[in-house]
Amino acid sequence: MSGYQPRLDDMTFTLNHVAGLEDVSKLNGYQHADPETVGTILEEAGRFFSEVIAPLNRIGDQQGSVLTEDGSVKTPDGFKEAYRKYVESGWAAAHMPQEWGGGGLPYIVGVAIQEMFKTANMAFALAPTLTHGAVEALERHGSDELKNAYIEKLVSGEWTGTMNLTEPEAGSDVGALRTKAVKQTDGSYRLFGTKIFITWGDQDLTENILHLVLARTPDAPPGTRGISMFLVPKFILDEKGKPGERNDIKVLSLEHKLGIHASPTCVVSYGDNGAGAVGYLVGDEQEGMRNMFTMMNAARVGVGMEGVAIGEAAYQHALDYARERVQGRPIGSDAKASVPIIEHPDVRRMLLTMKAYVEAMRSLLYVTAGEGDHMFHGETEERRQLASDRLALLTPIVKAWCTDVGVELASIGVQVHGGMGYVEETGAAQYLRDSRIAPIYEGTNGIQAVDLVLRKVPLENGAVVAGLIVEMSQVVDRMGEYPDLALFREELAVAIQGLAETSTWLGERLAGGEIQSALAGASPYLRQFGTVLGGWLMATAAVAALARPPEFEPAFLAEKVNTARFYGQQLLPMANGLVPAVKGGADLLNDAAF
Ligand SMILES: Cc1cc2nc3c(=O)[nH]c(=O)nc-3n(C[C@H](O)[C@H](O)[C@H](O)COP(=O)(O)OP(=O)(O)OC[C@H]3O[C@@H](n4cnc5c(N)ncnc54)[C@H](O)[C@@H]3O)c2cc1C
Repeated sequence: MSGYQPRLDDMTFTLNHVAGLEDVSKLNGYQHADPETVGTILEEAGRFFSEVIAPLNRIGDQQGSVLTEDGSVKTPDGFKEAYRKYVESGWAAAHMPQEWGGGGLPYIVGVAIQEMFKTANMAFALAPTLTHGAVEALERHGSDELKNAYIEKLVSGEWTGTMNLTEPEAGSDVGALRTKAVKQTDGSYRLFGTKIFITWGDQDLTENILHLVLARTPDAPPGTRGISMFLVPKFILDEKGKPGERNDIKVLSLEHKLGIHASPTCVVSYGDNGAGAVGYLVGDEQEGMRNMFTMMNAARVGVGMEGVAIGEAAYQHALDYARERVQGRPIGSDAKASVPIIEHPDVRRMLLTMKAYVEAMRSLLYVTAGEGDHMFHGETEERRQLASDRLALLTPIVKAWCTDVGVELASIGVQVHGGMGYVEETGAAQYLRDSRIAPIYEGTNGIQAVDLVLRKVPLENGAVVAGLIVEMSQVVDRMGEYPDLALFREELAVAIQGLAETSTWLGERLAGGEIQSALAGASPYLRQFGTVLGGWLMATAAVAALARPPEFEPAFLAEKVNTARFYGQQLLPMANGLVPAVKGGADLLNDAAF
């Protein structure tokens, strides 16, 4: 690949004409993030991530992070230096709160910046993803003392954060966790237990690491109700607030895994020496699960972003290869010479499928992030509430739809390369390997679908889904002005109707207590929902492009319309193919003789 080139035209078009950056930049506190300034910021960021971070993607995959004999983690060559530059150049803090030294950019812009980091190097970018989640959790639930001691260093990126939920017996069922936290007379706690799969659980990039750990106090009730959240620093701060004594935290091993080799996935033991790891309660006892959801929701959007990012990286990689690889003459023509494979219709279909899904997913990601900005900064209570409901509804869809599609796109990327995709030297296989974790962590996609059906569909008695469906239908009206969009318009109307039908059906099952029947259709429903949202947003993009905004090249706008039409006419119709699976109930699943 000639190297990652951020598609700034598509990113800025999506921000400005699909996701409502201008509205966000009018919100209190965000006036400095007007579209023009944001365009300049993204250009700078794009240069940094393509020049400094992207070249480390292959090295990271080949070397991986390793556990040294002294029990610490060594990151691949170049990571330490690149991370230092990332912090010094201010990209780590760009969308973090100004109150704590951050750049105060809206979330919608932060997401665009982080998307570039993830496209350049997904494994590396996981460290900041978790750090951002830790900032949010501490800001919202930590005491002033904790905030004052820790947030600034997380915001600047000088220290990183981790998220510790999983234990051998507690994966999807977090409530089963056993790590124990015992209160001390000075108000701190001592933690004992083992966490597995902890992303960036140790590293040599920063002088301290702050672990946010879920644990159970001795008399806590069983299940999620009895869980509390603790901040457990790798190095306990001395009286000057500097990292001092080493805490009782040990990395027992690193997982050997399919992809994201640069990201150390650690088995971490707390309290191995017997005294217990020193931790500080975040929020109140037994509110840990609720508070961790602040971190998890941010992280879920961050993981959804990985689907967009890996799809974009795989697309660019495949496009480069398809332009260069000469193979076969065009079937049905008299041409004697072989041509680059990009001239074959099936290869063009693969590339356009990748491109269209990436652009649809990017739109959904930015729209969701924009709701996050309105949730905190919206001008009226009504707008803030709407944003909060929309964010809640869209989060599992961003997480699961984008990551499932991301894996599929990475796989198509391998296919475009033919046999060379299956051998490691082209790099196409790395995207497929790296992408595969995203549907698993941060709550598997199956769990996201359960969340969508059990918690999000019933929000406000179904009015949150219904309101979004009404809003989607409005673009169908606007498409009527453009004859080129006639077919897309028909497909969108039918797809929205199909979504309304399955949403009502699921609502009725839930109301009637037929939970298994509703859950049996949860994953196809999520897929259907994501596909239709993609259609709505690609339609919005097509209408905006046909209005010819002068700041974009005509060729870009024509291409945008073409890609949107492909999505609407050839990908979107698959949404209604899922209706029988959503409404199929649980009988066939239960009757299966496994
Ligand atoms: C590389 C990597 C990094 C990770 N990073 C972190 C981290 O930083 N911090 C952290 O705490 N954890 C982390 N994890 C753990 C990750 O979040 C869990 O692996 C994930 O939540 C699934 O848990 P599990 O592996 O125990 O699978 P299980 O819970 O055993 O699930 C197995 C299958 O059963 C399905 N399933 C389970 N329960 C249900 C249900 N109720 N309804 C429907 N389907 C269900 C799941 O969807 C899945 O398909 C990481 C994992 C990996 C592999």
